[in-house]
Amino acid sequence: MADAQVAGAQWDALALQMRGCVACPELAASRRTVVVGTRPTAGSPVLLVGEAPGATEDQLGVPFVGKAGQLLDELLEEAGLPRAQVAVANVLKCRPPGNRRPARVEVGNCRGWLSAQIRLIDPSVICALGGSAAAWFFGPSARIRELRGQPHPVDGRRVVATYHPSAAIRFGPAGLPRAALREDLALVAALWRAS
Ligand code: SF4
Repeated sequence: MADAQVAGAQWDALALQMRGCVACPELAASRRTVVVGTRPTAGSPVLLVGEAPGATEDQLGVPFVGKAGQLLDELLEEAGLPRAQVAVANVLKCRPPGNRRPARVEVGNCRGWLSAQIRLIDPSVICALGGSAAAWFFGPSARIRELRGQPHPVDGRRVVATYHPSAAIRFGPAGLPRAALREDLALVAALWRAS
């Protein structure tokens, strides 16, 4: 079996296990779907890591498909990053009720799933979108305004932390998060092209 087929079979097996996960009882009881994530089937992709599924993602089972996802798609296109080379996953695979912030224990419960995904995807560069994703890689005291604008080594991989698209929407087109996100995605694209 070719490498891509092996990786595909491993991804499917992992997704199947995730869909049966009930480690967070409140989330498992309220979710519609377990939003596993998406990955390209070939190449060395960029991995975007967000916080958790929102209402639309929970309904459709796909990450970043709501308003934040639309903005992300626009900015990825602007940065010249082909969507076909972008994998997407969240820190939490299940929607927290009312879109509340993930609890620390939930992030801990879900940590092994994202770690396994990173090993399988083997991304050339990772972009952590928002505070929860930044904390996942850099610890609870991570501050995006201090980390953003450059890649940081984490377990032998390059990680760029930046604002979540929902913050870019909240602060408006002229706000700092949108400009920073645009700039940081351009950096991610440049790192990917150079890899
Ligand atoms: S959030 Fe993660 S750990 Fe918690 S139930 Fe969902 S898949 Fe399992």
